Amino acid sequence: MGSNKVLSEAEIQEIEKQYDEIIRVCPRCQSDENKALIRKAFDLACEAHKEMRRKSGEPYIWHPIEVAKIVAEEIGLGTKSVICALLHDVVEDTDYTIEDMEQQFGPKIASIIDGLTKISHVFDKESSLQAENFRKMLLTLSDDVRVILIKLADRLHNMRTLESMPAYKQIKIAGETLFLYAPLAHRLGLYTVKTELEDLSFKYEQEAVYNDILQKLKETENKRVEYINKFSQPIIDKLNEANIDYTITGRPKSVYSIWKKMQNKNVPFEEVYDIFAIRVVFNPINSNPEKTQCWMIYSLVTDIFSPKPDRLRDWVSTPKANGYEALHTTVMGPEGKWVEVQIRSKRMDEIAEKGYAAHWKYKGDGADEGELDKWIKKIRELLTNKESSALEFLDEFKMNLFSSEIYVFTPKGQIKRLPKGATILDFAFDIHSAIGNRAVGAKVNHKLVGLSYQLQSGDQVEIITSEKQTPQKEWLNIVTTAKAKSALKTSFKAERRESIEKGQMIFIDKLAELNRKPAAPIYRKLFGAYGITTKSELYIQIGMGTITADDIKKIVLKRSQSKFVRYWQLRVSKTTFRFGKRISPKKDAEQKINKKIPLILAENINEDQYIIAKCCSPIPGDDVMGYITPNNSVIVHKKTCPKAIEIMANYGDKIVTAEWTKHKLMASLARIQLKGIDRMGLVNNVTKVISEELAVNMRAVSFESNDGIFFGFIELYIHDTDDLNNLIKNLKKIKGVDSVVRIEMND
Ligand code: MN
Repeated sequence: MGSNKVLSEAEIQEIEKQYDEIIRVCPRCQSDENKALIRKAFDLACEAHKEMRRKSGEPYIWHPIEVAKIVAEEIGLGTKSVICALLHDVVEDTDYTIEDMEQQFGPKIASIIDGLTKISHVFDKESSLQAENFRKMLLTLSDDVRVILIKLADRLHNMRTLESMPAYKQIKIAGETLFLYAPLAHRLGLYTVKTELEDLSFKYEQEAVYNDILQKLKETENKRVEYINKFSQPIIDKLNEANIDYTITGRPKSVYSIWKKMQNKNVPFEEVYDIFAIRVVFNPINSNPEKTQCWMIYSLVTDIFSPKPDRLRDWVSTPKANGYEALHTTVMGPEGKWVEVQIRSKRMDEIAEKGYAAHWKYKGDGADEGELDKWIKKIRELLTNKESSALEFLDEFKMNLFSSEIYVFTPKGQIKRLPKGATILDFAFDIHSAIGNRAVGAKVNHKLVGLSYQLQSGDQVEIITSEKQTPQKEWLNIVTTAKAKSALKTSFKAERRESIEKGQMIFIDKLAELNRKPAAPIYRKLFGAYGITTKSELYIQIGMGTITADDIKKIVLKRSQSKFVRYWQLRVSKTTFRFGKRISPKKDAEQKINKKIPLILAENINEDQYIIAKCCSPIPGDDVMGYITPNNSVIVHKKTCPKAIEIMANYGDKIVTAEWTKHKLMASLARIQLKGIDRMGLVNNVTKVISEELAVNMRAVSFESNDGIFFGFIELYIHDTDDLNNLIKNLKKIKGVDSVVRIEMND
C-alpha cells in the first residue's frame, strides 16, 4: 500500500480526467442517472483510497479506475459493474463497511462488493484451503456472475502491473493466473482476456523463452503481413463484389499459444509461426439468417482457395459450450501454405471477444438459457453437492474446464454435450440418474456396445436399461463426469441406508419374537460373534442377509461363551461338487483350534468349522486370516479385507493364521461376472469353456439378456487363483464377451 502521501495537485487533475474516460468507454453508462451513480462511486473511491499508493508509487485509485475501464470496455458490462469495480477494494482496504455500501448504492451492488471482498484472499492459503476458497469463490456464481467477471478484470489489471511486485510474488501470481484464472476466463468465453492473462503469466514464468518468441515474432512480422495481404486480396474483391459489409483482419497468434504448440508438437518456432489465420467479420443483412450468410462467405472463400475437408469447424450450428460461434475453415493459400479462415457476424465476434457479458446484451435479461447459463447451472449443482470435498470438487471442476468436448445425439436427435472421454454410462447419467442406475449397455449408431464404451463426437446413443440392474462399485472407474460420479455416490449411500433400515427391522422383529430387548449384552454377543464393531454394520449384514434371523437366534440364546476348543483337525476328504448342489461334509463333534499353528484350510466347506467370509470371498491362493467365533468356527477373510483389518485391531486374541493346502481336489467358491454382446450360441460357448476347464465346477449360473446386451453371473468352485485367472482368460477369448471379472463383495 506504499506510503501515506496525500495526492499532489497534478495527480488529482489526472485522476479527475479518468471519470470522463470511464463514461467514454462505457456505452451502457450513458444516461444521466447512470452517470450520476458512477460519479458518486468514483468520488467515494477517490476519497477512500486517497492516502494509499500502490507498490509502483502511483496513487492506489488508479487500480480501481483501470479495473472499471476493463469491466466496461473489454468485458462490456454496464453501470452496476462499473460501480462495483470502482469500489471493489474499498471495504477490503479502508474503513468503509458493506453496510455503508448498501446504504449508498443499494443491496445488489453491496452484495457484489461483498462477494469481491470475500474472495480477495483466495489464494494466500495452503492448498486444501485454497481449494475450499476457490469453491466459495465459484459459489458466488450462484449469486451473480458479475463477481467473477469483475474479479477477472481485477486480476487482469494486477497482471498488467505485475512489474512492480517482488520476483517471488510475480511467480506465484503468474502461476495461479495460468492455473485458474485463464481457464476460467476461457470458460466464460472471454477470449481476449484469457489470451492476455496467458501471455502475461508466461512472461513472468519463463521470461527468456517469452522474449525469444516475441523477438522472433517481430522479426517475421513484415513477411507475415505481406503474405496475409496477398492471401486476402482476392477474398476482399469477392466480398466487395457481393456487397457485403465486413472487416477482414489477420489474426496474430499469442506468444503463449505459439509456445504451447511448439511443446505439444515438439517443433521449433519456424514450424509454428507461419500458421496463418484471418478473420472475416460481417455486418449481417437483416433479411438473411446469420448462419446462411456465414456459409455464403464460406462459399466465396472456397471458390478461390480449396478447403481442407477435415478442418471444417461449424460452431454456428452448434456453438461451443462457452458460447463461441463461428465458422472455421482451413484452405490452401498461395505458396502451398494452409491458412485458417474464421467467419463470424458482428454479434458472434462480440461474443467471442467479450463472452458472457455480450450474451446478455443479445439475449436480453429474461431470454432463454444459453449454453453458458447451463454451464453455470452445472457448476452450481456440483457446488451444492455436499458430498464432494473441496479438493475433489476442484479436480472435477478443472476437468470440466479443460477437457475438450464431444457432441452426441439422443435417439430423437437431441444434442448432448459431454467432456471428451465420456462413456455410455456418463451419457446415461447425463439424461437422468434413474437411467444411469439401470443402464446395461447401449446402441451407438445402431451397434451394441458396453457401458465403458467411449463416445465420439457425432455418435447417436440409445441407452439400454434393465429393471434388474443396480449401480455397481466398479462403475466409478468407468464414469468421467462429475454428474455421474456424484449420482453414483449418492446411490451407494442410499443403498447402505436401505440395508441398515431393513436390517434393523429384521433384528427388532426377531428379538421381539425371542422376547428380548435390544440391550447392550445382546449387541456385545453379536459383535463378538461376527467381529463387528458398530450397530449400523450389524444391521447392514442382517439387511444383506449375511447374518440371518436364525443366526441371531442362535447367538442370542447362547447361554455363555463356551471355551475355545484346543485343536483343529485337518480333514481331507475327496469331495466333488455338482452343478447346483452344495456339499456339506459331516461335522466333527469336537474341534480344537490352536492359535499358535496356522489353520490349514482344506476343501472342507463345513459351515461350522470354517466359513468363507462373504464380504471378501477369499479363494485358495489368497492371503487369508481366520477369526475364531464363539461357536468354534472360523471365519476366513482375505488379509486385505477392510473387515479383517478391523478385526485384527479389535479382536487380536481371536485371530488364527490360516493357510491353504495345495491339494488338487480342494475347491472353493468364486463368483464371476461376464458382460458382452449377445449372439446366438454365446451361452453355450461360455458353459463349454467352463466345463472344459477341468479344475472348475459350476454351482450356479444365470444369464440375462436385454436387447442384445448380456450379463452372466457364475458361481463356481475352483482350486486356486491360478485356475480362476486361467478360466477368466479363456472366457475373455469368446467372441462377444466384453468383460469377465471376479466379483468382490467388499462394502
Ligand atoms: Mn483489486
